[in-house]
Amino acid sequence: MSNRCEGKVAIVTGGARGQGERIVATLAGEGCSVVIGDVLDDEGKAVADALGQNTIYTHLDVTDPAGWSDAVALATSVFGGVDILVNNAAIYRKQLHEDETVAELDRILDVNLHGPFLGIQAVIPAMRARGGGSIVNVSSLAGTTSYPAHGSYSMSKWALRGLTRTAAIELAASNIRVNAVLPGNIRTTMSPTTAAPDGEAPTGLKRQADPQETANVVLFLASDDASFVNGTDLVADGGSLLG
Ligand code: NAD
Repeated sequence: MSNRCEGKVAIVTGGARGQGERIVATLAGEGCSVVIGDVLDDEGKAVADALGQNTIYTHLDVTDPAGWSDAVALATSVFGGVDILVNNAAIYRKQLHEDETVAELDRILDVNLHGPFLGIQAVIPAMRARGGGSIVNVSSLAGTTSYPAHGSYSMSKWALRGLTRTAAIELAASNIRVNAVLPGNIRTTMSPTTAAPDGEAPTGLKRQADPQETANVVLFLASDDASFVNGTDLVADGGSLLG
């Protein structure tokens, strides 16, 4: 650990388990204060309790604009502001296009796309007040290629890349960087085996990622190490698209 986020304050969504928990632990381990937002209250509180006083849990349904206002207000009152936002929360579903419903598509877009949309809007004033910031959107390899039965999830993750680039252009003048991470298959509750969600094809490295390997990429983009990286898609998939 090298205190790469010393003095910074982050909001991490979906931080109660899986990839989000690792991102929270990694940022906190680098000196960052972290507000963990999730809908899994018991798990989220347990993560905050385990990591100690520079982390705090709050119930944040990313589809709820008022929840976002509360989370930003909490980060500001407890830790002094917001420098980093990691839009990590998402839901996943496999369904063939011909069997998918608009209701299920809407549910996925609501969390995976509208959530980051609202989150970016919510943190802009707080980041401007700090002179800038870094936003990291967790997309997916499913946001740059196609897999059978991944239509709704894939649409949400492709669209998140569009949001990333638009926000990056608009917010550059405010010294707010916005980037996307496109992980391959990570070993989490969403993807506990080598089977899914991000492709049945064996990766170049022929294994799932450990969540720490993705968290390291998020840390890079969130920190000043990536001070000239803006609007990019950083693929972290072990080389699974190499053919
Ligand atoms: P996960 O299901 O283990 O964790 C997702 C977290 O998001 C959970 O804690 C959940 O409670 C939270 N969440 C869901 N809906 C929410 C809402 N409305 N508001 C707030 N929080 C909500 O999944 P994961 O594997 O840890 O996924 C983390 C991120 O990585 C997601 O964006 C996912 O799409 C992405 N990703 C995962 C993989 C993989 O193979 N696991 C691959 C590529 C990308």
